[in-house]
Amino acid sequence: YVAKQAHSGYAIYDDGDTGASRENLALIADLRRGIEDDELVLHYQPKANLATGRTAGVEALVRWDHSERGFLYPDAFIALAENTGLIRELTLHVLDRALAQTRAWMDAGLDLHMAVNVSTRNLLDLTLPDQVEALLETHGVPADRLELEITETTIMADPPRAKAVLARLSQLGLSLAVDDFGTGYTSLGWLRDLPVTTLKIDKSFVMPLATSDGDAKIVRSIVQLGSSLGLQVVAEGVEDQASWDILRDLGCDLAQGYHLSKPQPVERLEAFLRTTDSTSVTGGLSAELTA
Ligand code: C2E
Ligand code: MG
Ligand code: MG
Ligand code: MG
Repeated sequence: YVAKQAHSGYAIYDDGDTGASRENLALIADLRRGIEDDELVLHYQPKANLATGRTAGVEALVRWDHSERGFLYPDAFIALAENTGLIRELTLHVLDRALAQTRAWMDAGLDLHMAVNVSTRNLLDLTLPDQVEALLETHGVPADRLELEITETTIMADPPRAKAVLARLSQLGLSLAVDDFGTGYTSLGWLRDLPVTTLKIDKSFVMPLATSDGDAKIVRSIVQLGSSLGLQVVAEGVEDQASWDILRDLGCDLAQGYHLSKPQPVERLEAFLRTTDSTSVTGGLSAELTA
């Protein structure tokens, strides 16, 4: 078996059924329980429009508030969920929670787009588009409020199948972002052929932007590529004002990173929105939010 060491320190086996260690089996069983017991928590990281400074939307990032193991970050359990098929339940759960939150914000007069990460297995699941459509309907959220983030690796796993699923998702009217852009090994041809709307520049290029000429050149090229293809470009991992200014001057559309805010639980994110003038509040903050 090909064993891959996850950041968590658990060995993840490509053959999840026969190769999984006792420790992994325990964690898998536990993840199923954790999802059912609602131990997964979403933190939200805002993205701001670089030209206007306004908060344009948030990305939902999952954490596992484990009853015994403590607070777990995605690196400790997403790969395990991917290798065992539990990622299907996990993603649907995250989508359900994120869309419920989007609806609550809409009701409070907040016009925030919601981005949700989807894994390779999700994108190769031909039933995903119908499930996304049903969840949008259940929560009364228009499709254009939702963005799904995929990676280049995902697309390359099975291009024809990924293409079919992406086409159906795109028909629903939602946005499709390529996450961690610049770190894959793909040709650029698929960008032309797939209904992608957004490029998210990987944080490994953005974090050193202000001090590394090489990274600055890569970032500039990606911004130019995105704008010539008519795509929205988001910089992820913006950690300082200098990088923020460079990105704005380059014409990058949106910025996300610790300089603006870390991913936060919903109450803290709402406090952030209240204290910044930058939010796209349509009808003034509602009683719920200002209370
Ligand atoms: P990602 O989608 O690329 O998310 C961005 C990651 O970078 C997040 O880590 C975020 O906390 C971190 N980050 C944001 N701004 C900065 C910054 O300025 N500096 C630095 N150093 N880091 C920054 P996180 O939350 O630990 O998530 C890691 C990865 O786990 C995500 O990368 C995503 O691939 C995956 N993930 C998270 N939530 C989900 C989910 O609900 N479903 C799936 N399938 N994957 C998820
Ligand atoms: Mg992401
Ligand atoms: Mg990323
Ligand atoms: Mg990622």
